[in-house]
Amino acid sequence: MQISEIRVDGYERVVRCTDPTSRLHALISVHDTTLGPSLGGMRMLSYRNEEEALFDVLRLSKGMTYKSAVADTGLGGGKSVVIGDPKLKSPALFEAMGRFVESLGGKYITAEDMNIGVGDLVTVRRTTKWVTGLARDMGGSGNPSPYTARGAFHGVRAVLEEAFGSPSFKGRRMLIQGVGAVGGRLAELLTEAGAHVIICDINEARVQELCERFGFEGVSDAKHLEVPCDVYSPCARGATINDATIPQLKCKAIAGVANNQLLEPRHGDALRQKGILYAPDYVINAGGIINVSFELLPGGYDEDKAVAKIDRIYDNLRRVFAIAREQRLSTHVAADRLAEQCIAAGRKAPIKA
Ligand code: NAD
Repeated sequence: MQISEIRVDGYERVVRCTDPTSRLHALISVHDTTLGPSLGGMRMLSYRNEEEALFDVLRLSKGMTYKSAVADTGLGGGKSVVIGDPKLKSPALFEAMGRFVESLGGKYITAEDMNIGVGDLVTVRRTTKWVTGLARDMGGSGNPSPYTARGAFHGVRAVLEEAFGSPSFKGRRMLIQGVGAVGGRLAELLTEAGAHVIICDINEARVQELCERFGFEGVSDAKHLEVPCDVYSPCARGATINDATIPQLKCKAIAGVANNQLLEPRHGDALRQKGILYAPDYVINAGGIINVSFELLPGGYDEDKAVAKIDRIYDNLRRVFAIAREQRLSTHVAADRLAEQCIAAGRKAPIKA
């Protein structure tokens, strides 16, 4: 196994691993550990080349620093990518990946991400202890999705307060795109709180099933942007807020869990100009990472404590909206400012023994 450094300005450590025996070719990026060891998922993709993989791992690890800073997880940001076809997974590959993670001595802690499942992480765990997100019976915090949904629910509360002057869900029209693990649960929570929930998904059978079970209103995914609503919640995939969709939006606010909803940062400014309040994705969808961060406490995972912090996503968004209001910024810029303030405060704080 060969491990080599890649020097990248603004990043604490970026390392490459090549291992001919297991055929592992992977990168780990530790963006910033000011606030704690870096944590971020491991993804596996058939990148065209290492350059493309490097671009992805750098972008994602920096995003994790910002996400964890605002969520106050006590963690920094990192990420890892395995370069290769997920069909070619093998135990040897993940054991080698574990040794690679271990070589950073805990500066990088891994978790699930695209094309990496709990089963793969169990194999990684054979050769490193720096793994989170395993099942409860393995000492982990289990499936993060219900916690992400819970955090988003409290985030929507802050959004309603900011956009409508009241956090009440009663009678509010909420449109959710993507009712998978997170969106489906969020729809239930919003309905329980008194909102009128409208759902769409490319999986129409799932929409029908959920509408019958929970009384949601269903719309076709192709036409969902024609539906007037108070809050639109993208919970399917990224880049759905773009030049084509913004003119069609018939909502007062956007609050969903999908990662990287804005195709480009300027689309956040376009929403502001249109008078649409945007809940920055990495602030409102932090429930999962907050939950996982509680695995790393000395006493181990504690659900009550985790949930109490997840509910504070409400306060985190209130802070973002206050910065946006006071400094006349778009909310996505305000979130970055808040993250940078948290990191700067961490730099000044005395080093913990
Ligand atoms: P999921 O795969 O369980 O659900 C996604 C749903 O979106 C599915 O029902 C799918 O059919 C639907 N979908 C996919 N493409 C679509 C399209 N083009 N139009 C309409 N519907 C479409 O995923 P999830 O775990 O619920 O996560 C949803 C999003 O939130 C993802 O972007 C994910 O990265 C992000 N996220 C998830 C978590 C978590 O804890 N699971 C945490 C943070 C962010």
